[in-house]
Amino acid sequence: SQWRQPGLKKTKTVCTYCGVGCAFEMWTRDRHILKVQPTPEAPANGISTCIKGKFAWDFVNSEKRLTMPLIRENGRFREAGWDEALDLVARRLLEVRDTHGPDSLGFIGSSKATNEEAYLTQKIARLIIGTNNVDNSSRYCQNPATKGLFRTVGYGGDAGSIQDIERAEVVVIVGSNTAENHPVIASKIKAAHKLRGQKLIVVDPRKHEMAERADLYLRPNASTDLVWASALSRYMFDNDLADRPFLERWVNNVDEYRQSLAPFTLEYAESLTGIARDDLIEAAETIGRARSVCLLWAMGITQHSHGSDTSTALSNLLLVTGNYGKPGTGGYPMRGHNNVQGASDFGCLRNMYPGYEKVSDPAARERWAKGWGVRPERLSDQVGEGNFLMVQSAEKGAIKAMYIIGEETAFSDANTHNVHSAFEELDFMVVQDLFLSRTAEFADVVLPACPSVEKEGSYVNTERRIQRSYQVLEPLGDSRPDWRILTELAARMGHDWGYTHPSQIMAECARISPMFAGVTYARLAGWKSLQWPVAADGTDSPLLYTDGFPNEDGNANLHPLEWQPPEEAADEEYDLSLDNGRMLEQFQGANQTGRSTGIWGQVPHGFVEVSPELAAERGIEEGTWVRLSSRRDSIEFPAVITNRVAGHTLFLPIHFGKPGVNALTGEHHDPDVHTPAYKETAVKLEVLDRR
Ligand code: SF4
Repeated sequence: SQWRQPGLKKTKTVCTYCGVGCAFEMWTRDRHILKVQPTPEAPANGISTCIKGKFAWDFVNSEKRLTMPLIRENGRFREAGWDEALDLVARRLLEVRDTHGPDSLGFIGSSKATNEEAYLTQKIARLIIGTNNVDNSSRYCQNPATKGLFRTVGYGGDAGSIQDIERAEVVVIVGSNTAENHPVIASKIKAAHKLRGQKLIVVDPRKHEMAERADLYLRPNASTDLVWASALSRYMFDNDLADRPFLERWVNNVDEYRQSLAPFTLEYAESLTGIARDDLIEAAETIGRARSVCLLWAMGITQHSHGSDTSTALSNLLLVTGNYGKPGTGGYPMRGHNNVQGASDFGCLRNMYPGYEKVSDPAARERWAKGWGVRPERLSDQVGEGNFLMVQSAEKGAIKAMYIIGEETAFSDANTHNVHSAFEELDFMVVQDLFLSRTAEFADVVLPACPSVEKEGSYVNTERRIQRSYQVLEPLGDSRPDWRILTELAARMGHDWGYTHPSQIMAECARISPMFAGVTYARLAGWKSLQWPVAADGTDSPLLYTDGFPNEDGNANLHPLEWQPPEEAADEEYDLSLDNGRMLEQFQGANQTGRSTGIWGQVPHGFVEVSPELAAERGIEEGTWVRLSSRRDSIEFPAVITNRVAGHTLFLPIHFGKPGVNALTGEHHDPDVHTPAYKETAVKLEVLDRR
């Protein structure tokens, strides 16, 4: 058998799809990936993985991989050597900086690349260019959740571990299609629910698998989650279910918050959310009487024009019921990409250094400047622009050059028409990627990077767990790991950092950042892992808030809120509400899953989910093509009729189409963090004469 032939190699690696952070051994011979073998030692997943982790690796050997740098000349790409490409990039970035100032450049780091690569991205932006215009794709997903957590409890990450979710008495899942987007966490919840009697409450406009399994399923009207969450908080106070000892000991602002809940009666909540009063009461009683509650949320909450406020409302509810700091409790924003948590943790944020230290904090700025061997004045104390604002600034001509690593901004940002015209306005654009992506097509220089299995590095999963991934294969052709590309680019811009291994980058970060003080590659060797914050002696933090909250007085804060309607909702002309999201078998723009034959064949075409009611109303049959038009554009897909959606709500998977769903989405966004309101898109539907 093939397992007995010589040359079989087994290497520990970490999945680079979702934020669960499954680790496993990859069995290879030469460049052939023979199988993925999970083992019980894997801290997040044990012996489980999902279909993507097991089978979605063909892209690594795809003939479409970029193996040489590309330089645009007379409107076409030509292959170039690394020296020529990197010299050009270094020269043009410095020219733009010197001509138009540091803030005329923007950097988007990758949520799939390693922590060390995120660190170098922001180091180049901050130290060499002098701008805080650096970001990652958390701007498009969980930034509002982080904001909600900062307002209330203080750390921008999951409160505990996957194990806490498993051991909670009650799990509440809100706006998260966990079974498809975080399959291994979902399987642990399913097991706890089935075998140990864990109670499951699901709140979602779409009746997905976890909703089918729930003990209680609530189907709110779109964009009304703040209302039911606040009504539940009010119910806790009114019915003696608030955790008074916890509130007295650990929480500020209780009276003011309680007063702010006055409008959120059950009647008001029922009228706005459409959830029956009895169901609201049942949810409140279940949560209020439980010893431990974990609340999970995702894009169904955050990708709204008030996602930060709704995330805050969910965290408020957990505080009111004393569900922080104990095993089996806490708030869990489910991180989407494998390293979207790490990209933020390691500083690809417009306002924070690695370890969530504010760029506007003089002490932090001084420490980072010292760590990097420069005077503090060299580092900007001005909050920079995130992805969304950078693109808008590019359109206005204020941002002249962008450097995008592994992000499919031209497909994934909202309102892609504007994104494309913004990219066309740029004087200079660099894309570093595995493929000639839709974004790379706009670039002046494309640098061929390596996927996770062709390099070493570390990643942070959704439970703040830092894990090492080892090199399985040699880089394909002349492609290079991102950390090497960035190190060589920095040297060409006068900063010879001399890193020869990612461990040196992590060691530097640990020396400067208190949050990662005790992180070393030795402590992460093999299957070992650390959950931040990590003290200098290597003690890590599987469960946060056990000794209070990281705010000045050690307390958490309840944050009063008002409900505000969505920026875009169905109206007379655009009479349907378009929901969108991921599927189990695909990932984002399908740049990887789409090039993995075993998995692409599972669901190779896009479709739009239509409710049976709407199908009857408009005469739509299974497979009939429909045209969806928003105020921006139109796209066409065949209809799938299903009761996963109800009434006048449609659901569109985000992976498909040229153009895809973001031709329809608009520019309205959360005012606090500028996350586009992807889930607030009003459309009209036309039935086409085609099947
Ligand atoms: Fe695990 Fe997520 Fe990868 Fe699936 S996609 S194997 S759940 S990390």
